[in-house]
Amino acid sequence: MSSQVREGKVGIPRALFFYTFYPAFRTFFEELGATVVVSGTTTKATLDAGVQETVTDACAPIKLYHGHVAELRGRVDYLFVPRLVSTNGKLIYCPKFLGLPDMIRHSMAGLPKLIDVRIDVRKGKHEWWRVYREIGRNFTKSTWKIYRAYRKALETYRQFDGMLKSGATAPAAMYTLYGEEILPAQPGLQAAAALEQASASASEPAVASGTGRGADRRLTIGVMGYPYAFYDPYLSANLLDKLEALGVTAVTPDMIPDEVLERQADKFPKELFWTYSDRAVKAAYHFLENGRGRIDGLIHLTAFACGPDFIVNKLIELECKKQKVLPFMSLMYDEQTGEAGVLTRLEAFVDMVRRRKEAAVRAGAPLAETPVVQSQTTARTTAQAASSAKKAG
Ligand code: SF4
Repeated sequence: MSSQVREGKVGIPRALFFYTFYPAFRTFFEELGATVVVSGTTTKATLDAGVQETVTDACAPIKLYHGHVAELRGRVDYLFVPRLVSTNGKLIYCPKFLGLPDMIRHSMAGLPKLIDVRIDVRKGKHEWWRVYREIGRNFTKSTWKIYRAYRKALETYRQFDGMLKSGATAPAAMYTLYGEEILPAQPGLQAAAALEQASASASEPAVASGTGRGADRRLTIGVMGYPYAFYDPYLSANLLDKLEALGVTAVTPDMIPDEVLERQADKFPKELFWTYSDRAVKAAYHFLENGRGRIDGLIHLTAFACGPDFIVNKLIELECKKQKVLPFMSLMYDEQTGEAGVLTRLEAFVDMVRRRKEAAVRAGAPLAETPVVQSQTTARTTAQAASSAKKAG
């Protein structure tokens, strides 16, 4: 039997599941002799290209995914577009993830071969191995080679996830693993954070219990939402960097271990269907329950035209109003979100959170029990919504 490896270039778009699974799949492809090509950091041109290629009522992250695919088209032999159904054996991904390979295939021309493996861990405990074996067959007939690459991929995944659970953002952890190849733009702060956090004790993750870091005027804010939005500098209008510049440490759902999030499960009559949405809501509930004195506020970054987010945002907002523990702000983004609008709102929110905290410290009293709950969209988003409504009318 020939075990020769077929080499080739595999394109992975820098969007959607990229911030969760890229390191594992990169290791796997490279172990099989393939070269992994990642699309560049998102720019206006990437998103504009995606808008051209997709249906108008798709959410911004899906449009962006199309833009990243367009960038890779013509440069690679394979495009890795898996159909993510379930990766935790319980919940499924949003329907847009389930239909992703079909959407790409039917709306874009001139594509290379798609590796569109279906991933549904509900099918049994050997599903991940089946998935990797199916992908690996594109490159080699040797089951042993595929198995070895699969084991290495799992190792990388554990290493990457360990960094996240120690408080690193996904881009920072990737910078630690791959350097400027992945994050060419201003990686200094993030890399420092990754290194600092990766060396911290894994047995007591700082954010798992909502431990605020830093002293004096530094704040810690829980950022809820989807990794493909809050880690994407263009889509989020550089939210995390802006928070850092304002003296805020951002804590994301990625940083909280699954078992800690699961302690919130009994607060819901039933679980949300969608994996990332479920994590966002449970992370918010976790911070509300455990964050007093350690987390200073919550921000939910929510996507315009996202069905699941209508529910997620409402659940978080209602719980914040009920518990009256942490100030909350929701920020809605779409493909036209402007940086200036986001910065103005962030500055106002952070300023309010900081004044509230400092007033409590000065008075030697507990924090005020009446947080301001704001629900805002960016100015340009509001304008776009109005224009869409006008067109629809
Ligand atoms: S969860 Fe919302 S933002 Fe994410 S892909 Fe689905 S519709 Fe889009």
